[in-house]
Amino acid sequence: MNTISKETKLTLAYILIAFLFSVAVRMIWVYQFGEMEAFKFNGQFMISTNDGYYFAEGARDILSGIHQPNDLSPINGATSQLTAFFAKVLPFSFEAIIFYMPVFLSSLVVIPIILIARSIENLEMGLIAALLASIAHSYYNRTMVGYYDTDMLNIVLPMFLLWSIILAIKTNEKKYLLITALDILVYRWWYPQSYSLEFSFFGLILLYALIYDRKNLYNYKLLAIMMFAMLNVDGFIRFPIVLVAMYLFSQEKVQKYTYHLLALSVIAFFATGGFGPIWDLLKLYIFKDAVSMANEGLGLHFFSVMQTVREAGEIPFDVFAERISGHVGTFILAVGGFAYLAYRHKIMLFGLPLIGLGFLASVGGLRFTIYAVPVLAFGVAFLITEFARNMPTLRLKYLSMVAFTLIILYPNIEHVREYKVPTVFNADEVKILDTLKSKVSREDYILAWWDYGFPLRYYADVKTLIDGGKHSGDVNFPVSFMLTHPQDVAAKLARLDVEYTEKNFKPLEDIKDSNKTLFSNIEQMTKEYGLNDTNDFLASLATNIHMPEKTRDIYFYLPFRMLDIYPTVTAFSSLNLMNGAKEPAQLFYVSRRFSETPTTIELGNGVSFNKENLSVKIGKQSVPLKRFVRTFYDANMELQKSVQILDSSAQINMVYMSNYNLFLLLDEKSYNSLYIQLMVLEEYDASLFEKVVTNPHAKVYKLKI
Ligand code: MN
Repeated sequence: MNTISKETKLTLAYILIAFLFSVAVRMIWVYQFGEMEAFKFNGQFMISTNDGYYFAEGARDILSGIHQPNDLSPINGATSQLTAFFAKVLPFSFEAIIFYMPVFLSSLVVIPIILIARSIENLEMGLIAALLASIAHSYYNRTMVGYYDTDMLNIVLPMFLLWSIILAIKTNEKKYLLITALDILVYRWWYPQSYSLEFSFFGLILLYALIYDRKNLYNYKLLAIMMFAMLNVDGFIRFPIVLVAMYLFSQEKVQKYTYHLLALSVIAFFATGGFGPIWDLLKLYIFKDAVSMANEGLGLHFFSVMQTVREAGEIPFDVFAERISGHVGTFILAVGGFAYLAYRHKIMLFGLPLIGLGFLASVGGLRFTIYAVPVLAFGVAFLITEFARNMPTLRLKYLSMVAFTLIILYPNIEHVREYKVPTVFNADEVKILDTLKSKVSREDYILAWWDYGFPLRYYADVKTLIDGGKHSGDVNFPVSFMLTHPQDVAAKLARLDVEYTEKNFKPLEDIKDSNKTLFSNIEQMTKEYGLNDTNDFLASLATNIHMPEKTRDIYFYLPFRMLDIYPTVTAFSSLNLMNGAKEPAQLFYVSRRFSETPTTIELGNGVSFNKENLSVKIGKQSVPLKRFVRTFYDANMELQKSVQILDSSAQINMVYMSNYNLFLLLDEKSYNSLYIQLMVLEEYDASLFEKVVTNPHAKVYKLKI
């Protein structure tokens, strides 16, 4: 034990330095926002990613031991389970754990980076690459404090996999067979979509074995044990299978059956449907239709969320390069450096699947860039160490290494300083939900746009119709319709959609019915009300239709911040479901930056309000106003309003939200929508709604029907 080699000591020291550096850089955000009370809840910072609330809900339910059927809480998910484990064994608050988990877990990436460098006897390269990779733009963005998501281990685990594959191929030691298989098991547990990368590694090793090392049985053992670890069956079944395979491979008399075992693993892979997910993934990126259509039943056309997700778009080269290496110059050096590194150390070519996945960003979206970060960091780090190696003196060698490292780190640290991401919610919004938690039952529903689904479930412990994982066109449609249509039809559709949603959970539990096609709620409603045109059904909502039996309470959560996404929300229900035709755009204009002249208020974009004749000029056209409304909060923070009717035959309304310092220009449809009436004006129909809790940031109403 007392003979730890100098190299091992240096390895540990470098890992420690890089780890502390990675953590320290992530604490810059905490330092910048230390006094920001609006970002805190219960004295701790809130998280900054929407999806994080999903995992937090699961962890909370694991810890409490209770959750409700069909509440969509991910109690079986790895992220929730690991979080619950940390919350149990560590002496920190739950809020602190979810906020800081990404910091410490993502910083572990320095370990495989330095170990890989050690395997090619270039520890300095490992340290430099670890410093860069741990804080490079996209890796930082997706693993910073509060970015509580699967990303915190999504690079760490494949980097460990790369390390064990490199060591396996280099040393042919038995232990790396097991380590590789175990890493796949953990990686798949953590991130079920990991198969594409595992599969690429498998393909590359197969290629290597067939071309360069065909007679070496070890390669086939490695491939077989990887394949067994990748079977499309539960992890608790794969784990013993891997152990059995490991035992067989260590038996002298089984050596001659290596090919048979490999064949068996491949057959088992296909037999368990292992190839299915890869095929599905390909399909997902090839067919991204704007409007999705069911091919049975009424064949309804729904709006697709793909159209509104910015990530799926193409990205310019400089953004792509900066996200991977921090700077276009560094990126170019990194690519060239990696080519040189791979030429000198062929084994590094096993890093290609990670680079490949990173480059998929050009078609698959920004989030993929993080995969290329660590492997390309080796490239630029290798150039630096090669350059330094040729320096005439030892002093110059280290000086140049330090200087170049600082140069490549600088743009990344600058990015960290400028990347001031806010928390998902502010303290006032969460106060509303926290108050609500004590007033609602866990079986109740809170309806809101999908962006708020996960946080609502986490803070108020309720059920929701749509959320960050459930937001396809057919489930978004009814919620979009409710928020953007008048109160009476919205109220009825809310009751219907909640009751249909709960009712539809039942067939899934009932295996007998599992081969029955599940139509969208809106299609089922249309049919059950004896109609075959959804437009007729939607029109019937304005009449006195029969309502289903009420099984629980329903609430509407209406945050002020939804004002900015209102047009997006509208898009999901302003189309004719029967033929996909889009309805004409509504007038919904928000002006935050306006200026006053003696006779007008200039609202930007060529829109101006004439103070003298109380009309609005849009471009060159002057249009009369139907209403001019001014809202303000009184001393008790109750909303007050003055409504002036100007021209009852006009079609446009202007609302001045004085405390928010903004003007709204709305056509009749927008003005009469549930969102504007209940959130902006608090003009609710007391026979349908009851005000539950409000503050200027968010308002919650309870449905009375
Ligand atoms: Mn629940």
